[in-house]
Amino acid sequence: MLFVNHDIHVHTMLSACVEDAAAIPTNYIQQAATLGLKTIGFADHVWDRNMPGASPWYQPQDMEHILSIRDQLPNDTLGIKVLIGCESEYWGDGRIGISRAAAEQLDFVLLPMSHAHMTSFAVPGVVTSLADLSQLLVKRFHEVIDLRIATGIAHPFFPIGYIEHVDEIIAGISDTQFIDCFGRAAEAGVSIEIQPSYFPSLHGKPQEGFHDETFFRVLSLAKRCGCYFHFGSDAHSLAALNSLTVLDQVIEQIGINRDDIPPWLR
Ligand SMILES: [Zn+2]
Ligand SMILES: [Zn+2]
Repeated sequence: MLFVNHDIHVHTMLSACVEDAAAIPTNYIQQAATLGLKTIGFADHVWDRNMPGASPWYQPQDMEHILSIRDQLPNDTLGIKVLIGCESEYWGDGRIGISRAAAEQLDFVLLPMSHAHMTSFAVPGVVTSLADLSQLLVKRFHEVIDLRIATGIAHPFFPIGYIEHVDEIIAGISDTQFIDCFGRAAEAGVSIEIQPSYFPSLHGKPQEGFHDETFFRVLSLAKRCGCYFHFGSDAHSLAALNSLTVLDQVIEQIGINRDDIPPWLR
């Protein structure tokens, strides 16, 4: 049996950033069966209409929109457990894209705290250097755990939009700070996501300023704190689901075992 036997961060055509017409549940489920996955979790982007502050991009992607996925599910899921969750949003200062009531309609909620590519991520002037961004990520991580809404954190500390500076941004966060963050996550039972994109070489996409060692450090510290981990390809196309297979060697290197996976995903 594969160790990485679930993928709970999968986007379908219901996410506005997905352009692959093949990225629909039936095809993903088929591909999950081919890959030998036990569980697939759909996590389309959502901003609940009852929560203030949605950007124009988020506005059409409300709960009703993402829950329409239920009408797209095939009757036969080929033995794969299918979960309906979401990737909502956290922009700090109380700006969260999902209410507790809405979260209860879903199997799981992934909250990101590092969508630094979005203009609403930080008020102008807050991030003037990479060091500012490092410290803002630490602050946001603590806040997102305190919200007690997330089942898991989507790509924690992965600064989207700053791919060429990942090493420097992560190096700007001390071991003590990570241990403080991950200790809180472990206590709250909130899982830490592992994505293939953290490992540019393994993923076959080497980058200047971003090396595999950086997230090995982050995840090793999370492991040391006793965090749960979940896996997510963050697929925005059907083919991207296959990327999950590179994670087996990561798991071994960090020493993650079955007890480190949340019980509902074992
Ligand atoms: Zn994301
Ligand atoms: Zn995503």
